Amino acid sequence: MTRILENYEPKRACFHFENISAIPRGSGNEKGIADYLVSFAEQNGLWYHRDGINCVLIKKPASKGYEDHAPVILQGHTDMVCEKNLDTVHDFEKDGLKLKVKDGWLEAEGTTLGADDGVAVAIMLAILEDKSAAHPPLECLFTVMEETGMDGALDFDYSLLEGRTMINLDSEDLDCATVSCAGGATTTMTVNCDTSTRKNKLLKVTLKGLAGGHSGVEINKGRANANILMARLLSALYDKRPFNLVSINGGNKTNAIPRECEAVIAVFDPEDSKETLLEAAKVVSNELCDEDAGFKLHINKANGSDFVMTYKDTSRVLRAICLLPNGVMAFSRDIKGLVETSSNLGIVRTDGQAVRLITMERSSVDSKLDYVMKQFDMLGRCVDATVEHSERHPGWEYARESRIRDVYFESFKKLFGYEPKFEAIHAGLECGIIGRSLGKVDTVSFGPKVVDIHTPDEKLDLKSFKDGYELVLEMLKKL
Ligand SMILES: [Zn+2]
Repeated sequence: MTRILENYEPKRACFHFENISAIPRGSGNEKGIADYLVSFAEQNGLWYHRDGINCVLIKKPASKGYEDHAPVILQGHTDMVCEKNLDTVHDFEKDGLKLKVKDGWLEAEGTTLGADDGVAVAIMLAILEDKSAAHPPLECLFTVMEETGMDGALDFDYSLLEGRTMINLDSEDLDCATVSCAGGATTTMTVNCDTSTRKNKLLKVTLKGLAGGHSGVEINKGRANANILMARLLSALYDKRPFNLVSINGGNKTNAIPRECEAVIAVFDPEDSKETLLEAAKVVSNELCDEDAGFKLHINKANGSDFVMTYKDTSRVLRAICLLPNGVMAFSRDIKGLVETSSNLGIVRTDGQAVRLITMERSSVDSKLDYVMKQFDMLGRCVDATVEHSERHPGWEYARESRIRDVYFESFKKLFGYEPKFEAIHAGLECGIIGRSLGKVDTVSFGPKVVDIHTPDEKLDLKSFKDGYELVLEMLKKL
């Protein structure tokens, strides 16, 4: 095989990156990459453990002189997001990636590159086999299914790890390290409704044109939530003259701010109702941010359902939506401008006689996440709805003191001659789960520069790959 990265540094990390790029490793399909890791450990005479879902832990003893230092955990995930261009022929179940280098960037032809988080795998393997590296005992943890819910990190047997200091290599910047992330949970509130026979005329109300966005990183932009906005407009109408809800549906994902919502209602006077709704829409459009300028409300006559929700239950649904915690709820006390706690009503669905409201709440402070979940429970009691929580994962709270952060800062400055920055993100990383599982772990997260992750344009800056490798080695020397 011709090796694209033959003449690039760091030699062995490039070698392993190229090898693992030939192994299909979409989330849930990590058997092949786990086989590679296990045979690597066997060839190098290293202790390893492979769990039932293909997470792999490889340990390497301390180098000479570091025997009495505390172990250090290096960590990243083996799975990748599988996205390709429409005209690219590629089977992510069996085909290897086609790598190419362009202007110092490594890319894959027409597909995601999997540098998120293949660079972590490659760097860890290169360090594990490097006999000249100076380091404390190493525990390299390779997790699976990070991109689809972090199942690997959630299920791992943490009694196998002794380290309480960790470098997570799953952030895509070298000179801006992540030092805190949010935990999260999903809440489903179900409002069961009684129905009655329809007597009035139907209107279909469609709300469109909002900007939406990621429910974590874009929750602070002041963008409107289509589901909440719809309930607000409908409640303005209900106040003037009660109507019956037939259905309300909006949004597709809990982790996206919904852009559209559609409701069907039965009203006594369609013309008057339409006017009231448009007036209410005019009022709220004055409150919207510039990105939501495309906001539109369409109201049309509709046919269909002979049954409607009762007035009482229509009111319950609207109260539940308007009152539930949504948007930014608190900012960090340590990091200016960082959202600490938020909630997003991502999905509203009407299934027969039940309306389900599905939210995702996030917080970097676990007790605040608990409190938001409790607010949903309390609201459920107020509007007589059932509330269920799922997919809870812990956050990674900012530590006011951190040795690993200091070591990162000093090592970076020494190698590259300028000071790196720190950031906290209002989205999830495995660090939260691992930290919670081990008690307390002093953690920093960074990685070689990768742009456009999760898209076929994903690119790795090869210079940054080399720098990242050297940075990890320099940090290990100091730990
Ligand atoms: Zn990742």
